Amino acid sequence: MSDSVPCPDCGASAERHGVQVLLDDDSLRWDTEVVCRGCGSALAVCGTEVPGGMRERLLAEHGRAELRLGPSADRVAVMRVLRRTLGLGLGEARDVLEQGYGGTLPETELLARRLRDAGVDAVAVRGVAGSGSVRRER
Ligand SMILES: [Zn+2]
Repeated sequence: MSDSVPCPDCGASAERHGVQVLLDDDSLRWDTEVVCRGCGSALAVCGTEVPGGMRERLLAEHGRAELRLGPSADRVAVMRVLRRTLGLGLGEARDVLEQGYGGTLPETELLARRLRDAGVDAVAVRGVAGSGSVRRER
């Protein structure tokens, strides 16, 4: 994921790269690096929230990752994890259960990890960019 921002040192157009990573402690982090070809300045910013609009671009560029549940997944346990992890209400969690969850890969991996912790067979499957049959997020 990259775009252009003014270089903080010389003001020329610098390239900004951002990446969303899932850390071992189950937190999602957004790392950004700004590299200027004009003056060679490089700036790394770690541990920020995903900036507005970036998440949609990530989803558009990489596609939505899908959450796949095992055939014997316990619906009650899944609902509980969905509600706790995503902060959803009962009805919303049921919609996700029926229609599927789609988010960025790190987000979906986090959800799958939480589900496995709760004893549910779940995996995150990488989305296909440009696929016409993306699932609704909720
Ligand atoms: Zn510069």
